[in-house]
Amino acid sequence: MSLDAQHRWYLSKMGISTWELRQRQSVEQQIAPGIVAEEDRSVLQPQYDVEPDLELSNDCHANWLTLEKNVNECVACDLYQTRSQAVFGVGNKHADCMIIGEAPGAEEDRLGEPFVGRAGNLLNKMLFAIGLQRKDVFIANILKCRPPNNRDPKLAEITKCEPFLQSQMDLINPKLIVALGRIAAHNLLKTDQPLSSLRGNVNYYGKKKIPVIVTYHPAYLLRSPREKRKSWQDLQFIQSLLRDSTQTKKR
Ligand code: URA
Repeated sequence: MSLDAQHRWYLSKMGISTWELRQRQSVEQQIAPGIVAEEDRSVLQPQYDVEPDLELSNDCHANWLTLEKNVNECVACDLYQTRSQAVFGVGNKHADCMIIGEAPGAEEDRLGEPFVGRAGNLLNKMLFAIGLQRKDVFIANILKCRPPNNRDPKLAEITKCEPFLQSQMDLINPKLIVALGRIAAHNLLKTDQPLSSLRGNVNYYGKKKIPVIVTYHPAYLLRSPREKRKSWQDLQFIQSLLRDSTQTKKR
């Protein structure tokens, strides 16, 4: 199947209609069931099966290993008492783009990987709609451990966990950060402005002033599918910024 057809299929699954030739549509209708089956199989399983560390220098590899060990053994807040395991983060350690969510949920806590439940399935589709896969980005959360009953993270927990995310950012040095939802946006940008005023702008993170784009959390989009249209605008904005940053690099 062509990439074009896949993109249109993913957009339609996100609830976004596209104009297309009738002839082309009938071809997609024949192929869609295969993709549906493949998508369903990928939910609720660890999704990152490619070993991304081969190209890291020895020093960098050691830094990642130490960081991951520190996260896994962390007892800095009470969440260690209720977690099954810490959820370090996953993806490409040379990624241009980091995706930051809130905190692991039940499935993430069980499997040790961020965004592997229903919200993760939608996140995969959102990434795919702009030509990205999980292995192209690095996905992490504000908190590495699951808050019981998926309650909001507490400020003290966020403060204790922050150095881990900061270290991940330092090691990856992304060109763009995507903040998914209110908790990620507010804590990365140290603001309490509503999401509506943060979306659509380039905000900046930390001393290095890394550009941050704020968009809706996929779990919110599952509850409020009407917002998928605005989410698609954000995704296109993200795609254009990533494209620009790649072109600047090539010049
Ligand atoms: N929601 C998040 O914010 N992060 C996850 O890893 C899963 C769901």
